[in-house]
Order: sequence, then structure tokens, then C-alpha cells
Amino acid sequence: MSGDDVSRILEQIEKDRVKFIRLQFTDIIGMAKNVAIPAKQAEKALTDGISFDGSSIQGFARIEESDMVLKPDISTYRILPWRPDTMRAARFICDIYTPKGKPFEGDPRYILRKQVEEAAKMGYIFNTGPELEFFLFRQEDGKPSLELQDTGGYFDLAPTDLAEDVRRDIIIALTDMGFDIEASHHEVAESQHEIDFKYGDALMTADNVITFKFATKTIALQRGLHASFMAKPIFGINGSGMHTNCSLSTMDGQNAFYDPAAPLQLSDIAMKFIAGILKHVKAITRVANPTINSYKRLVPGYEAPVYIGWSASNRTALVRVPAPRGRSTRVELRSPDPTCNPYLTFAAILAAGLDGIKNDLEPPKSADKNIFHMTAGQRKDEGIDTLPGSLFESNQFLMADPLICNALGSHIVENLNLIAEIEWDSFRTAVTDWETKRYLATY
Ligand code: GLN
Ligand code: MG
Ligand code: MG
Ligand code: MG
Repeated sequence: MSGDDVSRILEQIEKDRVKFIRLQFTDIIGMAKNVAIPAKQAEKALTDGISFDGSSIQGFARIEESDMVLKPDISTYRILPWRPDTMRAARFICDIYTPKGKPFEGDPRYILRKQVEEAAKMGYIFNTGPELEFFLFRQEDGKPSLELQDTGGYFDLAPTDLAEDVRRDIIIALTDMGFDIEASHHEVAESQHEIDFKYGDALMTADNVITFKFATKTIALQRGLHASFMAKPIFGINGSGMHTNCSLSTMDGQNAFYDPAAPLQLSDIAMKFIAGILKHVKAITRVANPTINSYKRLVPGYEAPVYIGWSASNRTALVRVPAPRGRSTRVELRSPDPTCNPYLTFAAILAAGLDGIKNDLEPPKSADKNIFHMTAGQRKDEGIDTLPGSLFESNQFLMADPLICNALGSHIVENLNLIAEIEWDSFRTAVTDWETKRYLATY
């Protein structure tokens, strides 16, 4: 960062009458973290960075090497629109460095940046367009409850869609923060919503996913609501996905997935990218579906994927090719859910897709019939495999996939493994309502 850049942004901070600056970053499990500094510390933060103790952050650092340095990425300067005008707060998303000035291997943003550079060496920019779904629950006594806010359904309008106003407020806040909102609608389940923003390069959209979640939660809370991105909060109705549209463009801005002369108008590069995703998707699932609860969403009957396949015509496929072509040509991976760390998820998807390109992988035959209507035998005959059924399984698939492990780096992989073991053990040993309902009276 040049001295000019620093003085320009310092002038902006002054002009905006910003009093506090939030230095934001993301931990391994995808939680937004921040430390606030008074605006007069901005110059120091922008030139030297700000030190913090990383040892209390999950999966970050051991006690003996806990000092970390936050360096603001000046392109991410945004005013937080919900803070009072007289006490303006702004944020920067930061990169994390070790005290020796090296990028920190446990920083998910760095992991994605490395993978994006890998793509750049091959001449590509990786674009993602995530579609986040979420529920609105009522807050009761200052805590989230399971009380739904409305009883609307897919694309409903008021009066069933009581969330019109809160959705509008969320969109206004996001727009103030520089989002290009494309659409928003009531989702299939009661009290479930989706707000879509414009696709862009993967680093920017991963930043946007994090901002989207905390902005949405903040605005909902102002109206006494809890916005939940949990994958499957309620049994028996749809869960929340984070379908991720993916494409590669060349450095001169052409969509590398589009080829008007090819079958389905999908380029060779697109086919290899799909093949790479399908090859590695079981390992990707560990990061794209990182909670115990994530796997309660990946079951038949609720528009979430279960079987491993791709299609340009069938909406239920794990990898779907939406109809638009030309500049909008893309593949949609439907398995990720919004509890994922978007940096790690996009890094894993990209590594898989690039593997497909480097090794000329070919995708299997497309699954154009509704896979959910096939019998287990028919699926077996067609060679259609299933996504991992639990965090335990997906973690094992990650450990057995050197390419995805290498993309995430050993620091992240060791911590993901540890987190999965702890989570799985805690879940495995818990006695659930299901069990007591099923067994207490009988035995
Ligand atoms: N909620 C569904 C999922 O879990 C998707 C529904 C939709 O967008 N049509 O992925
Ligand atoms: Mg959608
Ligand atoms: Mg949707
Ligand atoms: Mg979609």
C-alpha cells in the first residue's frame, strides 16, 4: 500500500466524520470477528497494522505463537450504515500476518487468495455468485426462539409475507455498503427468505458473504427478529442453502465456460471444471457443509442435493447448469449451506475445478432424469454416488483427498480435523429428544 493510498483513505475517514474503525477478519469456522479502534489510530493501523492476540480465536494459533497482525485491505472501507451518524463507524476487512511479516496460514482469506493466484497463473479469474437463504425467527426475552415470523411461501407477497419491510431494510443497508442487489424473495418455507447479490471475483464475494450475514442479523435484530443461517433449523420443511454459481473468465473478460459451437454451448473448460468438482465434492463437503446440522439438510425431499451428478436440464442435480449462456454461462453447485466459511469453500471448489482442467478430467454422463425418482438399484446402474451423510464422513473424505488438503494448507486442515472430531464426539454422545421419544416408554 503506497503512502498516497494511505493519505487518501485517511482524508476519506476524516471527511466521513468516522469516529470508530472496526478491523474485521474471519476465523476458520467462518465467524466474523472484529476489533474496534478509535479513528485517530487509523494511520498506525494502515501503515504498520494492529497487533492482536490470536490464541483465543478458534483454530487460530497456539499460545506460544499467538501474536498476529491485522493489516486493513483499503478497498474494503465501508461505513456501517446502522451505526448512529454522530458516532460513525467504518470497517476494513483485514489480512492477517505473523509478527515476522508473513501471511498467516490460518487466515481463510489468504487461503482463497492463494488459490485465486493459482487460477491467475493459468489465465483465469474465478467468479462466484452465492445465493444465501435464511430464516427469520422472533426474538423472545432477548433470545432467538423457534417462533416463525410469517407463514408465507415461495415468491409470496404481503400480507402473508410479513417480512417485506425487514427485507427492504436489509437491502437498503447492503446497498449502502456497496452491494449490487439483484433480487430478493420469500423462499419456499415459512419465514424463509433469499436475497441475491451480483456475482464477482471470488475474494470479493467471499467478503460479501460475511458482510451479508452480519448486516442481515443486525437489521433483523432492530425489528426484534433473529436472522438464522443455520442449515436445517426445522425438521420437515426446507433448509437453507447457499447455492454457489461458479464461472471462470479470461483476463480480457471473456466467459471461459461459454462456447457457442460446443454441445450445450458449454466449453471444454466448463466440462473439465464440472468433472473436477464432482471428483472432489465429498472432500469439499467438509468445508461447504461444516456443521452436524448441515447433513440434516442434505436429505431427499427438500430441494437440497443428495446424489452426486450434474445436469443442464434437471434442477435437482448437485451441479446444475442454469439456462443463461453468453456472459452469464455458469455452473451452480447446490450443496453449500450458509454456515460454511465462504473463503475456504470457494478455495476448495476452485482447487477442484482447476484440477479438472489441469488433468483433462471428463465428467460422467449428465443425470437428466430426476435422480430422486430413481430406485437405489437404478442409481447404482447409472453410477450415481451419494454425498457424505455426516460431518464425520465428510471429514474422512477431506483427510483422504490430498489435492483439497493441499489447497487448504496443513494449518487449516489440522484444525478442521480437530473441530470435526470434537463436534462429532459431542453429538455422538448426546442423548437426543428423538431417542427419548422413541425408546423411553418402550423399554
Ligand atoms: N432451500 C433449498 C436448499 O436447501 C433450495 C430451494 C431453492 O432455492 N429452490 O438448497
Ligand atoms: Mg436462488
Ligand atoms: Mg433459493
Ligand atoms: Mg439457485
